[in-house]
Amino acid sequence: MREECGVFGIYGPDEDVSRLTYFGLFALQHRGQESAGIAVADGRDITLYREMGLVSQVFDEATLERLSGDLAIGHARYSTTGSTTLANAQPMVAEWRGGKIAISHNGNLINTLALRREMEAQGETFEASSDSEVMLRMVAREADRTGTVEEALAACMPQWHGAYSATFLTEKSVIAVRDPYGVRPLCVGRLNGQATVFASETCALNLIGAEFLREAQPGELIVADEDGLRSRAVLTTPRQALCVFEYIYLARPDSKISDRLVHEARRGLGRQLADDQPVDGDVVIPVPDTGWPAAIGYAERSGLPFGEGLIRNRYVPRTFIQPDQRLRELGVKIKLNPLRDALAGRRIVMVDDSIVRGTTKRGIIGMIRDAGATEVHVRISAPPIRWPCYYGVDTSNRSELIAARCSSVEEIRRAIGADSLGYQSIQGMLKGLQIPRRKLCLACFTGRYPIAIPKDVRLSKLDLEESAWREGEEEPRAGTPAPSPTETPG
Ligand code: AMP
Ligand code: SF4
Repeated sequence: MREECGVFGIYGPDEDVSRLTYFGLFALQHRGQESAGIAVADGRDITLYREMGLVSQVFDEATLERLSGDLAIGHARYSTTGSTTLANAQPMVAEWRGGKIAISHNGNLINTLALRREMEAQGETFEASSDSEVMLRMVAREADRTGTVEEALAACMPQWHGAYSATFLTEKSVIAVRDPYGVRPLCVGRLNGQATVFASETCALNLIGAEFLREAQPGELIVADEDGLRSRAVLTTPRQALCVFEYIYLARPDSKISDRLVHEARRGLGRQLADDQPVDGDVVIPVPDTGWPAAIGYAERSGLPFGEGLIRNRYVPRTFIQPDQRLRELGVKIKLNPLRDALAGRRIVMVDDSIVRGTTKRGIIGMIRDAGATEVHVRISAPPIRWPCYYGVDTSNRSELIAARCSSVEEIRRAIGADSLGYQSIQGMLKGLQIPRRKLCLACFTGRYPIAIPKDVRLSKLDLEESAWREGEEEPRAGTPAPSPTETPG
């Protein structure tokens, strides 16, 4: 499972737009660390700069200086489709008969292959291997026909199936679009009373001092140009399906999504977890950084003392950005170091947000035991992840998900080497989050995909047919041993 992307956009003729985009991307760095880019326009042309690496590595004073203009879009990427190459980095730029268009896209289309084949049959050629390039070229082709990028986007949106929160740049406008299910977040802000800002998360608005105006609505197209801000409801929402994993892990805790502060949501998950999965222990410790709010909530509700037991080296990027398994295992040690005095001789309740492959968890638990802990009880604020994500979070194939591979929580407990393991239930998650189920996508936990997945796409990730859980079920099917949410060795 890997991370996804951060998008940004600004229409601000009186602002230093490239520098503001740089800071916006800096705040969104957690959403993608593979490549970063900015496309800037000055009314006549679009200039692009993108490179592999972190935002702070990609840009320096000299580069930003060259990117002068009145409007810009930016992107921080971790690949969810397409490989790790510069050709797949964003923004991407294409030409149409009226000029240029650039795209910054977060999410994942599920009908890319069909769209791409259709376009190739009509003579279109592609440089990259991502869904974003397909979107961009479709818009360029449509714009040739309709005469404006805005109309082209309105014509393309119904053809895009899947998740997209994207910003587009023309020489004179910044346009934001969001899929009709609103899977990925996207917000709109205002800077200095006149510039319009779009960003994946509100933390990017906070950093540049922009005021939060509202969220982009599912199915909406918003244009910022010299006439101001205008919006069109291009598609009606069949049902909102905001990614619940944004609350659990992906988004920054200081962002607000759908009016809910992510930190509060995570703390609520921790409190609920303490109610549903109590355990006797001496101290509750978080797995830094994403496990912190849930661990605070768990300690609050359980009454157990909260403590730090693992120290994170802040300067190491998240381990998952090293796709090689050998490096990933080493990554745990590079990233975390145990506080021996806090752990030795104690029964540890370790709280984390999720288990994906289980590799990191196993490494951390071993580390805590080596430091002298007498027991390690693991509590997870998300339910077991049993299904792949097709909407922009790379959950890998089912065969890599430990909760899909194992047929019981007990088996997972053994695999990661914990004394007990307790997951959040789906009901508990909804209660803890205080967000109605009908607004959320829960598919990686339930196997119920709000946007139907084409069979060929589905087969590519379902290389694990034998599982205790059948698709669409929240609980194991009859006949298989029912894992209780908590299991301790008998
Ligand atoms: P593991 O124990 O190896 O399954 O690693 C799970 C950890 O990876 C969790 O504690 C999360 O903090 C983190 N994680 C969760 N989702 C993702 C994701 N999409 N990409 C990268 N890391 C993730
Ligand atoms: Fe988010 Fe999971 Fe739905 Fe993917 S499947 S959009 S990770 S909730």
